[in-house]
Amino acid sequence: MFETTKALILREVRYKESDRILTVLTDTDGKRTLKARGALRKGSKMAAATQQLTFSELTVFENRGRATVNEATLLEPFEGLRADFSAFSLGCYFAEVLEATSEEGMPDPAVLQLALNSLYALSRGLCAPAQVKAVFELRLMAITGYEPDLSACPVCGDTEPESPWFFLPEGTIFCGRHRADAPGGVTPLHPDTLAAMRHIVYSDPKRIFSFTLEGEPMNQLASLSERYLLTQLDRGFSSLDYWKKVKDI
Ligand SMILES: [Zn+2]
Repeated sequence: MFETTKALILREVRYKESDRILTVLTDTDGKRTLKARGALRKGSKMAAATQQLTFSELTVFENRGRATVNEATLLEPFEGLRADFSAFSLGCYFAEVLEATSEEGMPDPAVLQLALNSLYALSRGLCAPAQVKAVFELRLMAITGYEPDLSACPVCGDTEPESPWFFLPEGTIFCGRHRADAPGGVTPLHPDTLAAMRHIVYSDPKRIFSFTLEGEPMNQLASLSERYLLTQLDRGFSSLDYWKKVKDI
């Protein structure tokens, strides 16, 4: 049986002489593992369209539970990533996180859209890599069941606290007067950082990257978004450690 699917290639592993085993995120079936036979053969038309961090249309042949890619057409190569090693490494971290948070047979259009928009922003340099990373991390958490509640201090209901504090394990904010009521240690939040976090979590998907944040509030956003994701998923990512080593080279 043949079927056509649009897929973001999260990972490719060489298999035997000239095959690739792909882990992909599709619009129809969520995460899938596919074999691309002959993808590494000289002159193969599939080579470019089955590379890690490309978005392609795949024709898949299913037979007795095995799925093989028969044809692959490149839809978006994210060329900017291939010209910038640091950006590519950050893209690989996005891919590892997506692999960890996606499931087979559970397509999520919002997650795929966020992934494509983030890679596009990174590839085109639409904003600083640290900003793309923070948006990807926080928005992904918000749409995969770990949405923080940034609306108000839960004790007094103050929506615009003068000096807000963030309780990371639960993703809640507290005002200065009630920070001792948080069930654990809290982190100080610059009001501009809180505004940016609200923008990322609550705004229309098309607008998530449109905000400006610099200096200390930006550093705070970058650090908190990463820590929030790692805390909620309760694991580390080797691709993140790697990106930190190479990002300034
Ligand atoms: Zn309060």
